[in-house]
Amino acid sequence: PPPAGPLPIRRLHESLINRIAAGEIIHRPASALKELIENSLDAGATFIRVTVKDGGMKLLQIQDNGCGIRKADLPLLAERFTTSKLTTFSDLSRIRTYGFRGEALASISHVAHLSVMTKTKSDTAAWKAHYADGALTPPKSGLSPDPKPCAGNDGTTITIENMFYNTPTRLSALRSSSEEYSRILDVMTRYAVHNPNVSFSCKKSGVSGQDLSTPSNSDVRQTIRLLYGHAIYKDLLHAKASSSSSDRDNSTDDDDPESWSSEAYFTNANYQAKKTTFLLFINHRLVESSRIKRALESVYSAILPKGMSPFMYLSLDIDPQAVDVNVHPTKREVHFLNEEAIIENVTDAVQQELAGQTQSRVFQYQT
Ligand code: ADP
Ligand code: MG
Repeated sequence: PPPAGPLPIRRLHESLINRIAAGEIIHRPASALKELIENSLDAGATFIRVTVKDGGMKLLQIQDNGCGIRKADLPLLAERFTTSKLTTFSDLSRIRTYGFRGEALASISHVAHLSVMTKTKSDTAAWKAHYADGALTPPKSGLSPDPKPCAGNDGTTITIENMFYNTPTRLSALRSSSEEYSRILDVMTRYAVHNPNVSFSCKKSGVSGQDLSTPSNSDVRQTIRLLYGHAIYKDLLHAKASSSSSDRDNSTDDDDPESWSSEAYFTNANYQAKKTTFLLFINHRLVESSRIKRALESVYSAILPKGMSPFMYLSLDIDPQAVDVNVHPTKREVHFLNEEAIIENVTDAVQQELAGQTQSRVFQYQT
């Protein structure tokens, strides 16, 4: 029945606020993993090893060889809005790291059991700490408080267990563990293509073989071959475009907020798939843009049979001043200046490359 009169307005409990906010960032194991990969890359890691149990719902562990976390920072680590990457609002327009909101680890600690083991180069031992609801877990009586010293390598290992144990609706919204695992592999595959200098690996806990493994110091083409297969690799074209090559002006001013550059790898007309594979990175962030995707697909509609689709990987670098990364907590959506003109230039470059290919094939037939 409807209430007789207005109900009193009450302040939500802090932990409830945090749990609701966490749900916006951490949708599923793969979204937690995206944040963790970005943290490892921000820390300068050259290898990233992931171990998964039950689609990441039971266990999601990521080990890196990055700079580590100072012991003194561990008490703050999982508190909301604590970061080493941003101090002033104007920093936001220069941001070159993936993170800046200081929300990922905090969010995870509100919806899962989080523990961290970390060692900086100058530390003599590693430190281990457990977190719950944004703070170090209080010590059990008689035991010393976290962080505790332990043996470990340089770098950081983040362990997440029992994701969504306290948010049953979220847990029941997840798909099967094999579906969640394939999303984890997909996120890793994309980051691995974009970071061919970093070694990525992913395996199921308790199983000896790896389901994904890339070497360090590779290149984009070889990584695509390794992860997406030879059929794509052998039909792969490459195109670059940038503001200085576009018609408008030739300024090579580093500070020009209108300057941008792009690099794309994409299949020629010989490759035909049922579904488009599109990897998009803007300023090294994995994002989505149906606008860019559609623009590129329309180039292919002229050269592929109806219903057939290409593979495309596009990396776009735009002056941080021209990008608003702060549109959404997941940072998945990105807005930038001159979107239309940039998209047109990028698709033109792709089209030219594809057209050149078609011509040379025709030429071969004639001889
Ligand atoms: P953000 O990345 O937005 O700063 P996070 O919650 O993801 O927020 O991380 C908080 C802080 O913890 C980071 O600013 C960084 O200092 C530290 N950190 C997290 N993960 C790592 C890691 N793998 N290696 C080194 N430092 C890390
Ligand atoms: Mg982060």
